[in-house]
Amino acid sequence: MKYAIIIPDGAADEPLAQLGGKTPIEAAHTPNMDRVALEGRQGLVRTVPKGFESGSDVATMCLLGYDPATYHTGRAPLEAAAQHIPLAPSDWVFRCNLVTVLDGVMKDHSAGGISNAEAQRLLSDLRAALKLPGFEFYNGVSYRNLLVYRGADEFDVTTKPPHEIPEEPVAKYLPRGKGSDLLRQVMELSRGLFAEHEINQVRRETGLNPATQVWLWGQGHAPNIPKFAQRFGVKSGCMITGVDLLRGLAVLIGWDVREVEGMTSFHDTNYRGQGEATVAALDRYDLVFSHIEAPDEASHQADWKTKVAAIEHIDRYIVGPVLEKMKRYDEWRILVMPDHPTNIATRKHGYASSPFCMAGTRVRSVRSMPYSEMNAAESDLKIEQGHELMEYFLRGGNL
Ligand SMILES: [Zn+2]
Repeated sequence: MKYAIIIPDGAADEPLAQLGGKTPIEAAHTPNMDRVALEGRQGLVRTVPKGFESGSDVATMCLLGYDPATYHTGRAPLEAAAQHIPLAPSDWVFRCNLVTVLDGVMKDHSAGGISNAEAQRLLSDLRAALKLPGFEFYNGVSYRNLLVYRGADEFDVTTKPPHEIPEEPVAKYLPRGKGSDLLRQVMELSRGLFAEHEINQVRRETGLNPATQVWLWGQGHAPNIPKFAQRFGVKSGCMITGVDLLRGLAVLIGWDVREVEGMTSFHDTNYRGQGEATVAALDRYDLVFSHIEAPDEASHQADWKTKVAAIEHIDRYIVGPVLEKMKRYDEWRILVMPDHPTNIATRKHGYASSPFCMAGTRVRSVRSMPYSEMNAAESDLKIEQGHELMEYFLRGGNL
Protein backbone atom coordinates (compact mmCIF):
# COMPACT_ATOMS: atom_id res chain seq x y z
CA MET A 1 0.00 0.00 0.00
CA LYS A 2 1.25 3.50 -0.91
CA TYR A 3 0.12 6.52 1.07
CA ALA A 4 0.36 10.22 0.17
CA ILE A 5 -0.57 13.06 2.53
CA ILE A 6 -0.65 16.62 1.15
CA ILE A 7 -0.97 19.57 3.56
CA PRO A 8 -1.78 23.04 2.22
CA ASP A 9 -0.94 24.86 5.48
CA GLY A 10 -3.66 27.19 6.78
CA ALA A 11 -5.77 26.85 3.60
CA ALA A 12 -9.12 26.51 5.40
CA ASP A 13 -10.95 29.77 6.06
CA GLU A 14 -14.34 31.43 6.37
CA PRO A 15 -16.51 32.90 3.59
CA LEU A 16 -15.06 36.24 2.44
CA ALA A 17 -16.91 39.25 1.04
CA GLN A 18 -13.96 39.83 -1.34
CA LEU A 19 -14.67 36.39 -2.83
CA GLY A 20 -18.42 36.88 -3.18
CA GLY A 21 -19.15 34.97 0.02
CA LYS A 22 -16.94 32.00 -0.86
CA THR A 23 -14.01 30.65 1.10
CA PRO A 24 -10.60 30.63 -0.65
CA ILE A 25 -10.89 26.84 -1.12
CA GLU A 26 -14.34 27.29 -2.72
CA ALA A 27 -13.16 30.18 -4.89
CA ALA A 28 -10.04 28.38 -6.10
CA HIS A 29 -10.21 26.13 -9.19
CA THR A 30 -9.20 22.77 -7.68
CA PRO A 31 -10.28 19.93 -9.97
CA ASN A 32 -7.85 17.48 -8.36
CA MET A 33 -8.85 18.05 -4.73
CA ASP A 34 -12.46 17.81 -5.93
CA ARG A 35 -11.67 14.47 -7.58
CA VAL A 36 -10.28 13.16 -4.29
CA ALA A 37 -13.48 14.23 -2.48
CA LEU A 38 -15.82 12.97 -5.24
CA GLU A 39 -14.14 9.57 -5.59
CA GLY A 40 -13.57 9.17 -1.86
CA ARG A 41 -14.94 11.00 1.12
CA GLN A 42 -14.56 14.17 3.15
CA GLY A 43 -15.16 15.24 6.71
CA LEU A 44 -13.97 17.41 9.57
CA VAL A 45 -11.19 16.74 12.06
CA ARG A 46 -10.25 18.69 15.17
CA THR A 47 -6.47 19.11 14.97
CA VAL A 48 -6.04 21.59 17.85
CA PRO A 49 -7.12 19.95 21.11
CA LYS A 50 -8.77 22.07 23.80
CA GLY A 51 -6.22 23.98 25.86
CA PHE A 52 -3.62 24.22 23.06
CA GLU A 53 -2.78 27.23 20.92
CA SER A 54 -3.53 26.81 17.23
CA GLY A 55 -0.20 26.30 15.50
CA SER A 56 1.50 23.96 13.07
CA ASP A 57 3.50 22.31 15.86
CA VAL A 58 0.37 21.06 17.63
CA ALA A 59 -1.81 20.51 14.54
CA THR A 60 0.83 18.60 12.54
CA MET A 61 1.68 16.41 15.52
CA CYS A 62 -2.03 15.53 15.63
CA LEU A 63 -2.13 14.79 11.90
CA LEU A 64 0.85 12.48 12.24
CA GLY A 65 -1.15 10.46 14.74
CA TYR A 66 0.37 11.65 18.01
CA ASP A 67 -1.73 13.21 20.78
CA PRO A 68 -0.17 16.59 21.70
CA ALA A 69 -1.40 16.13 25.28
CA THR A 70 1.08 13.24 25.55
CA TYR A 71 3.90 14.19 23.18
CA HIS A 72 4.07 17.98 22.81
CA THR A 73 6.83 19.38 25.06
CA GLY A 74 7.32 22.77 23.36
CA ARG A 75 8.14 24.24 19.99
CA ALA A 76 11.89 24.76 20.43
CA PRO A 77 12.70 21.05 20.95
CA LEU A 78 11.05 20.23 17.59
CA GLU A 79 13.25 22.78 15.82
CA ALA A 80 16.29 21.40 17.65
CA ALA A 81 15.51 17.98 16.15
CA ALA A 82 15.47 19.53 12.65
CA GLN A 83 19.03 20.76 13.29
CA HIS A 84 20.04 17.34 14.69
CA ILE A 85 21.15 18.96 17.98
CA PRO A 86 21.82 16.13 20.44
CA LEU A 87 19.80 16.52 23.65
CA ALA A 88 20.02 14.69 26.97
CA PRO A 89 16.70 14.19 28.78
CA SER A 90 17.62 16.90 31.31
CA ASP A 91 18.64 19.51 28.71
CA TRP A 92 16.37 22.48 28.00
CA VAL A 93 15.84 24.14 24.61
CA PHE A 94 14.60 27.70 24.13
CA ARG A 95 13.72 29.59 20.98
CA CYS A 96 16.13 32.53 20.92
CA ASN A 97 14.63 35.17 18.64
CA LEU A 98 16.51 38.29 17.65
CA VAL A 99 13.91 41.03 18.15
CA THR A 100 13.49 44.80 17.96
CA VAL A 101 12.33 46.39 21.22
CA LEU A 102 12.18 50.20 21.18
CA ASP A 103 11.30 52.24 24.27
CA GLY A 104 10.21 49.04 25.98
CA VAL A 105 7.77 48.12 23.18
CA MET A 106 7.96 45.00 20.96
CA LYS A 107 8.32 46.47 17.49
CA ASP A 108 9.43 43.47 15.47
CA HIS A 109 9.67 39.76 16.42
CA SER A 110 12.10 39.19 13.52
CA ALA A 111 14.50 42.15 13.87
CA GLY A 112 13.72 43.18 10.32
CA GLY A 113 14.30 39.67 8.98
CA ILE A 114 17.97 39.96 9.94
CA SER A 115 20.46 38.06 7.75
CA ASN A 116 22.09 34.80 8.81
CA ALA A 117 25.56 36.38 8.84
CA GLU A 118 24.48 39.26 11.10
CA ALA A 119 22.63 36.91 13.44
CA GLN A 120 25.69 34.64 13.72
CA ARG A 121 27.94 37.57 14.56
CA LEU A 122 25.62 38.93 17.28
CA LEU A 123 25.13 35.54 18.89
CA SER A 124 28.82 34.68 18.86
CA ASP A 125 29.58 37.99 20.60
CA LEU A 126 26.84 37.24 23.13
CA ARG A 127 28.28 33.76 23.66
CA ALA A 128 31.71 35.27 24.37
CA ALA A 129 30.28 37.75 26.87
CA LEU A 130 27.99 35.31 28.68
CA LYS A 131 29.66 34.14 31.89
CA LEU A 132 26.82 31.80 32.94
CA PRO A 133 27.73 28.10 32.59
CA GLY A 134 25.66 25.58 30.64
CA PHE A 135 24.27 27.76 27.83
CA GLU A 136 24.93 27.02 24.13
CA PHE A 137 23.65 29.05 21.17
CA TYR A 138 22.69 27.42 17.88
CA ASN A 139 22.21 29.52 14.77
CA GLY A 140 19.13 28.82 12.73
CA VAL A 141 17.74 30.81 9.81
CA SER A 142 17.64 34.61 10.25
CA TYR A 143 16.03 35.60 13.57
CA ARG A 144 15.06 31.99 14.44
CA ASN A 145 17.86 30.75 16.69
CA LEU A 146 18.02 28.31 19.58
CA LEU A 147 19.53 28.35 23.06
CA VAL A 148 20.28 25.04 24.76
CA TYR A 149 20.82 24.81 28.51
CA ARG A 150 22.84 21.84 29.75
CA GLY A 151 23.34 23.02 33.33
CA ALA A 152 22.04 21.98 36.73
CA ASP A 153 19.25 24.52 37.15
CA GLU A 154 15.61 23.56 36.69
CA PHE A 155 13.04 25.71 34.91
CA ASP A 156 9.36 26.10 35.50
CA VAL A 157 8.77 29.25 33.52
CA THR A 158 6.06 31.03 31.58
CA THR A 159 7.27 32.72 28.40
CA LYS A 160 5.54 34.55 25.55
CA PRO A 161 5.99 34.19 21.76
CA PRO A 162 7.19 37.63 20.58
CA HIS A 163 4.98 37.56 17.44
CA GLU A 164 1.95 37.53 19.75
CA ILE A 165 2.78 40.85 21.43
CA PRO A 166 3.38 43.31 18.57
CA GLU A 167 3.37 46.97 19.72
CA GLU A 168 2.94 45.90 23.36
CA PRO A 169 5.16 46.85 26.32
CA VAL A 170 7.46 43.86 26.91
CA ALA A 171 7.92 44.32 30.68
CA LYS A 172 4.87 42.27 31.62
CA TYR A 173 5.79 39.44 29.23
CA LEU A 174 9.31 38.74 30.48
CA PRO A 175 9.95 35.13 31.62
CA ARG A 176 8.35 34.41 34.97
CA GLY A 177 8.67 31.54 37.43
CA LYS A 178 11.40 29.22 38.64
CA GLY A 179 14.69 29.80 36.78
CA SER A 180 13.39 32.90 34.99
CA ASP A 181 16.11 35.06 36.59
CA LEU A 182 18.72 33.17 34.51
CA LEU A 183 16.77 33.79 31.30
CA ARG A 184 16.28 37.44 32.15
CA GLN A 185 20.02 37.76 32.73
CA VAL A 186 20.74 36.45 29.22
CA MET A 187 18.18 38.83 27.71
CA GLU A 188 19.48 41.77 29.75
CA LEU A 189 23.10 41.07 28.79
CA SER A 190 22.14 41.01 25.09
CA ARG A 191 20.36 44.36 25.48
CA GLY A 192 23.50 46.07 26.74
CA LEU A 193 25.79 44.30 24.28
CA PHE A 194 23.66 44.89 21.16
CA ALA A 195 22.75 48.55 21.89
CA GLU A 196 25.80 50.08 20.21
CA HIS A 197 26.91 47.01 18.26
CA GLU A 198 28.30 47.96 14.86
CA ILE A 199 25.87 45.62 13.10
CA ASN A 200 22.99 47.59 14.59
CA GLN A 201 24.63 50.91 13.76
CA VAL A 202 24.74 49.86 10.12
CA ARG A 203 21.17 48.54 10.24
CA ARG A 204 19.88 51.81 11.70
CA GLU A 205 21.77 53.85 9.10
CA THR A 206 20.21 51.82 6.29
CA GLY A 207 16.71 52.07 7.77
CA LEU A 208 16.50 48.45 8.93
CA ASN A 209 15.18 47.35 12.32
CA PRO A 210 18.10 46.70 14.70
CA ALA A 211 18.33 43.47 16.74
CA THR A 212 18.12 45.12 20.15
CA GLN A 213 18.11 41.89 22.17
CA VAL A 214 17.37 38.17 22.26
CA TRP A 215 13.92 36.97 23.35
CA LEU A 216 13.62 33.51 24.91
CA TRP A 217 10.42 31.41 24.59
CA GLY A 218 8.99 28.07 23.37
CA GLN A 219 11.03 26.08 25.92
CA GLY A 220 10.94 22.38 26.57
CA HIS A 221 12.81 19.12 27.01
CA ALA A 222 13.34 16.76 24.08
CA PRO A 223 10.06 14.93 23.48
CA ASN A 224 10.01 11.16 23.73
CA ILE A 225 8.09 10.23 20.59
CA PRO A 226 7.72 6.63 19.40
CA LYS A 227 8.80 5.99 15.81
CA PHE A 228 6.03 6.02 13.20
CA ALA A 229 6.98 2.56 11.91
CA GLN A 230 6.59 1.02 15.37
CA ARG A 231 3.38 2.84 16.08
CA PHE A 232 1.56 2.31 12.78
CA GLY A 233 3.43 -0.51 11.04
CA VAL A 234 4.16 1.60 7.94
CA LYS A 235 7.83 0.82 7.32
CA SER A 236 9.18 3.92 5.60
CA GLY A 237 8.15 7.56 5.56
CA CYS A 238 9.39 10.74 3.93
CA MET A 239 8.73 14.41 4.73
CA ILE A 240 8.94 17.17 2.09
CA THR A 241 8.56 20.68 3.59
CA GLY A 242 10.08 24.15 3.58
CA VAL A 243 9.69 24.52 7.35
CA ASP A 244 12.11 23.45 10.13
CA LEU A 245 9.31 22.58 12.52
CA LEU A 246 8.05 19.80 10.25
CA ARG A 247 11.56 18.61 9.42
CA GLY A 248 12.06 18.23 13.17
CA LEU A 249 8.87 16.23 13.62
CA ALA A 250 9.95 13.95 10.78
CA VAL A 251 13.36 13.34 12.35
CA LEU A 252 11.73 12.51 15.69
CA ILE A 253 9.35 9.90 14.22
CA GLY A 254 12.12 8.27 12.16
CA TRP A 255 11.31 9.55 8.68
CA ASP A 256 13.69 10.79 6.00
CA VAL A 257 13.58 14.46 4.99
CA ARG A 258 13.83 15.41 1.31
CA GLU A 259 14.85 18.86 0.13
CA VAL A 260 13.66 20.50 -3.10
CA GLU A 261 15.56 23.25 -4.85
CA GLY A 262 13.70 26.56 -4.63
CA MET A 263 11.29 25.36 -1.93
CA THR A 264 10.36 28.24 0.41
CA SER A 265 7.56 29.02 2.86
CA PHE A 266 6.04 31.62 0.51
CA HIS A 267 4.15 31.73 -2.82
CA ASP A 268 7.49 32.04 -4.65
CA THR A 269 8.13 28.39 -3.78
CA ASN A 270 8.88 25.73 -6.40
CA TYR A 271 5.44 24.02 -6.53
CA ARG A 272 6.27 22.03 -9.64
CA GLY A 273 9.55 20.79 -8.14
CA GLN A 274 7.80 19.77 -4.92
CA GLY A 275 5.17 17.88 -6.92
CA GLU A 276 7.88 16.03 -8.87
CA ALA A 277 9.80 15.24 -5.69
CA THR A 278 6.65 13.93 -4.01
CA VAL A 279 5.86 11.69 -7.00
CA ALA A 280 9.45 10.40 -7.12
CA ALA A 281 9.55 9.71 -3.38
CA LEU A 282 6.47 7.47 -3.65
CA ASP A 283 8.54 4.84 -5.45
CA ARG A 284 10.99 4.66 -2.54
CA TYR A 285 8.76 5.16 0.50
CA ASP A 286 5.50 3.65 1.75
CA LEU A 287 4.23 7.05 2.95
CA VAL A 288 5.11 10.51 1.63
CA PHE A 289 4.03 13.64 3.52
CA SER A 290 4.21 16.82 1.42
CA HIS A 291 3.62 20.14 3.21
CA ILE A 292 3.26 23.58 1.61
CA GLU A 293 3.45 26.67 3.85
CA ALA A 294 2.41 29.31 1.26
CA PRO A 295 -1.38 29.53 1.98
CA ASP A 296 -0.64 30.13 5.68
CA GLU A 297 1.83 32.95 5.00
CA ALA A 298 -0.59 34.61 2.55
CA SER A 299 -3.33 34.45 5.22
CA HIS A 300 -1.08 36.13 7.81
CA GLN A 301 -0.67 38.99 5.29
CA ALA A 302 -4.47 39.08 4.64
CA ASP A 303 -3.57 38.51 0.97
CA TRP A 304 -6.62 36.58 -0.24
CA LYS A 305 -5.60 36.71 -3.90
CA THR A 306 -2.29 35.01 -3.20
CA LYS A 307 -4.03 32.52 -0.91
CA VAL A 308 -6.39 31.45 -3.72
CA ALA A 309 -3.46 31.28 -6.17
CA ALA A 310 -1.41 29.17 -3.73
CA ILE A 311 -4.28 26.67 -3.34
CA GLU A 312 -4.65 26.45 -7.14
CA HIS A 313 -0.90 25.86 -7.59
CA ILE A 314 -0.92 23.11 -4.96
CA ASP A 315 -3.88 21.48 -6.71
CA ARG A 316 -2.32 21.66 -10.14
CA TYR A 317 1.35 20.93 -9.46
CA ILE A 318 1.19 18.63 -6.43
CA VAL A 319 -2.24 17.00 -5.89
CA GLY A 320 -2.80 16.37 -9.63
CA PRO A 321 0.52 14.63 -10.42
CA VAL A 322 0.42 12.66 -7.15
CA LEU A 323 -3.12 11.41 -7.87
CA GLU A 324 -2.05 10.31 -11.36
CA LYS A 325 0.95 8.50 -9.93
CA MET A 326 -1.11 6.77 -7.22
CA LYS A 327 -3.39 5.17 -9.78
CA ARG A 328 -0.44 3.19 -11.11
CA TYR A 329 -0.10 1.31 -7.81
CA ASP A 330 -2.34 -1.66 -6.98
CA GLU A 331 -3.20 -0.33 -3.55
CA TRP A 332 -3.01 3.33 -2.56
CA ARG A 333 -4.60 6.07 -0.52
CA ILE A 334 -4.34 9.87 -0.59
CA LEU A 335 -5.29 12.43 2.09
CA VAL A 336 -5.46 16.19 1.43
CA MET A 337 -6.16 18.72 4.20
CA PRO A 338 -4.88 21.87 5.93
CA ASP A 339 -3.36 21.38 9.38
CA HIS A 340 -5.51 24.22 10.77
CA PRO A 341 -7.46 27.21 9.37
CA THR A 342 -5.70 30.56 9.05
CA ASN A 343 -8.28 33.29 8.68
CA ILE A 344 -7.79 36.18 6.27
CA ALA A 345 -10.16 38.33 8.38
CA THR A 346 -8.06 38.08 11.57
CA ARG A 347 -4.67 37.23 10.02
CA LYS A 348 -4.39 34.57 12.74
CA HIS A 349 -4.68 30.81 13.04
CA GLY A 350 -8.24 29.64 13.69
CA TYR A 351 -9.62 26.97 15.98
CA ALA A 352 -12.31 25.50 13.70
CA SER A 353 -12.00 21.84 12.71
CA SER A 354 -10.12 21.24 9.46
CA PRO A 355 -11.83 19.85 6.34
CA PHE A 356 -10.18 16.71 4.95
CA CYS A 357 -10.69 14.66 1.82
CA MET A 358 -9.32 11.19 1.17
CA ALA A 359 -9.57 8.64 -1.63
CA GLY A 360 -8.09 5.34 -2.73
CA THR A 361 -8.36 1.64 -2.05
CA ARG A 362 -11.57 0.81 -0.14
CA VAL A 363 -12.35 4.46 0.63
CA ARG A 364 -15.93 5.11 -0.48
CA SER A 365 -18.77 7.43 0.37
CA VAL A 366 -22.42 7.45 -0.61
CA ARG A 367 -22.25 11.22 -1.05
CA SER A 368 -20.34 12.88 -3.88
CA MET A 369 -19.52 16.54 -3.37
CA PRO A 370 -16.55 18.73 -4.37
CA TYR A 371 -14.05 19.56 -1.62
CA SER A 372 -14.90 22.52 0.64
CA GLU A 373 -15.27 23.49 4.30
CA MET A 374 -19.07 23.49 3.91
CA ASN A 375 -19.33 20.12 2.18
CA ALA A 376 -16.93 18.57 4.68
CA ALA A 377 -19.10 19.89 7.51
CA GLU A 378 -22.25 18.45 5.91
CA SER A 379 -20.72 15.02 5.51
CA ASP A 380 -21.51 14.06 9.13
CA LEU A 381 -18.02 12.58 9.40
CA LYS A 382 -16.46 14.36 12.35
CA ILE A 383 -13.33 13.20 14.13
CA GLU A 384 -12.99 14.99 17.45
CA GLN A 385 -9.66 13.42 18.49
CA GLY A 386 -7.40 14.62 15.68
CA HIS A 387 -4.67 12.08 16.36
CA GLU A 388 -7.14 9.28 15.48
CA LEU A 389 -7.33 10.45 11.86
CA MET A 390 -4.04 8.72 10.94
CA GLU A 391 -5.30 5.31 11.98
CA TYR A 392 -8.62 6.00 10.23
CA PHE A 393 -6.73 6.89 7.03
CA LEU A 394 -4.35 3.93 7.19
CA ARG A 395 -7.28 1.56 7.71
CA GLY A 396 -9.16 3.04 4.78
CA GLY A 397 -11.85 5.04 6.51
CA ASN A 398 -13.11 2.52 9.05
CA LEU A 399 -13.27 3.69 12.63
ZN1 LIG B 1 0.21 25.53 10.05
